[in-house]
Amino acid sequence: MVNTIRENIEFVRKEIRDSAKISGRSGNDILLVAVTKTRPVEDILEAVRCGVSVLGENRVQELLEKHGRWPWDVPVQWRLIGHLQRNKVRKALSVASFVDSVDSLDLARVLSRVAAEQNKIVPVLLEVNTSGETSKNGVAPEEVNSLLEGILRECPALVVEGFMTIGPLSNDEREVRNAFSHLWSIREKARKNFNLSLLELSMGMSGDFRWAVLEGSTMVRIGSAIFGARE
Ligand SMILES: *Cc1c(COP(=O)(O)O)cnc(C)c1O
Repeated sequence: MVNTIRENIEFVRKEIRDSAKISGRSGNDILLVAVTKTRPVEDILEAVRCGVSVLGENRVQELLEKHGRWPWDVPVQWRLIGHLQRNKVRKALSVASFVDSVDSLDLARVLSRVAAEQNKIVPVLLEVNTSGETSKNGVAPEEVNSLLEGILRECPALVVEGFMTIGPLSNDEREVRNAFSHLWSIREKARKNFNLSLLELSMGMSGDFRWAVLEGSTMVRIGSAIFGARE
C-alpha cells in the first residue's frame, strides 16, 4: 500500500516535531517547504489542502508552467531552490517570492537590479557547498564572507535572510550532520561579522531532514517523502 500525501505530510511533520524537541525547539519553528518538481498540480493541491503553503521548485521553466496552471484563488508562496541562470532572473521573479540558491555576486547583482525595476525587495538565501562535492552548486565556505560583503555593498533590493545547503550524498550520520553543523557555524560567524540576524538555515531533504533539524535547520525542503519517489 502506498501512503497518501496526507499521511506522508503528517508523518513528516511528526518527525520534524520530534527532532525539533530534541534540539530544544518547537516544530512550529521549522518551515516545511514542499518540493514540487515533476509533480502534477493535483498532487500539489492536495498537499496545500493538508496545510502546506510554501512550495519549492528548482527549475524556472517548470515553475512558470506550474504557476500558469495554478488556481488563482489558492494562495501559496513559491521559492526557487535550484540553480538560477542570470538570463532567467526576470522570469523567476515573476513567480518566485524567494530565491534560496544565490551562489554568486553576478547573479545577486542581476537579481537586485530586476527586483528594483519591479519595485520589490527580494529575500534570498546564499547557497553554500558544505560537502565539497563538485557536482553541487553553491559558494565554497571560504567565499561566503566576500559574497555577503558584495551583496550588502551592491544589491540594495536583496535581503539576505540566511543560508541554504544540500547535504552530502551519504548515509553516514556523522558526515551528513557535520555538513549541516558547518552551515550553522558559517551563519554564526557571518552574524557577528556583519551584525545581521540571518535567521534562516534551509537544510534537510527527504533522506536527511531529521539530522538537519537536530543541527538547527529552520526550513526543510521535502519532495519524495511527501509525494513518493520521483520517476
Ligand atoms: C529535489 C530537491 C529537494 C527535495 O528532494 P527530496 O529528496 O525528494 O526530498 C530539496 N532541495 C533541492 C534543492 C532539490 O532540488
